[in-house]
Amino acid sequence: MDGDAKVHNFPPVLELNVGGVYYTTSLSTLVKSQDHMLSAMFSGRHLVAKDKDGRYFIDADGTLFSHILRYLRSGDLPCSSMAPQVYKEAKYFGLEELQQHIEQMPVMMGKQARLQFQSRLAGFDEAIEQILATANKKQCIVSDEIVSFAVIAIHKDSQLVMNPAFDNDHRCFVNYPQDLNSADVVIGPWESDIEDVTDRVYLRAIARELESRGFTITFSKQGSCSYGIRNPDRIDCKKTVFKFIFHWHKFQ
Ligand SMILES: [Zn+2]
Repeated sequence: MDGDAKVHNFPPVLELNVGGVYYTTSLSTLVKSQDHMLSAMFSGRHLVAKDKDGRYFIDADGTLFSHILRYLRSGDLPCSSMAPQVYKEAKYFGLEELQQHIEQMPVMMGKQARLQFQSRLAGFDEAIEQILATANKKQCIVSDEIVSFAVIAIHKDSQLVMNPAFDNDHRCFVNYPQDLNSADVVIGPWESDIEDVTDRVYLRAIARELESRGFTITFSKQGSCSYGIRNPDRIDCKKTVFKFIFHWHKFQ
């Protein structure tokens, strides 16, 4: 039975099978430094399963393990593009120091700052969901491209208009110049403890979030909502209408 006593001996050089990818490393590399999953596995206190060729089997992503091993050997950190993936592996293996190092890389600090910013924008996640749902059902071909449109009406300070003649539930639209698109998604009002989150900043945050998920998008202002009443007072809808375009495929 496993216990605190050292019951298994490992050779100084180990052949590993990590998720189907083979590595050779030294026992001292795997057990050095603080407590983590690998140092526990090869501490001698536990039995480690072997594959049919006698390699010690570790059930993890074989490709990403190269970054883990490089860190254990020399303390090298992954490049920026690999950092998010390696971070997950570091978490899986309980490599807290590696996690802390990666958290301090610009790419991760930037992502963290962006996520914190987004979490403070009211309605942000719902807006993203609605935009994606719209994009998913409204695909069309424009010239030589498959695209989707999501039309968004936005105003930071939009409040209910008390005049009964004004329809607060109207669907925002822009009718000049001949653009008959009406809004699929309405954003606002929002309160934020962040200064200067204007309509455009909010929309840019949406655009960056969508890009980080792999979508290719552009967006442009269509104009101010054309809805309003004239009697007895003139009251205009204050929302601005933007069009997001998802670019799916361009025919060559
Ligand atoms: Zn409107």
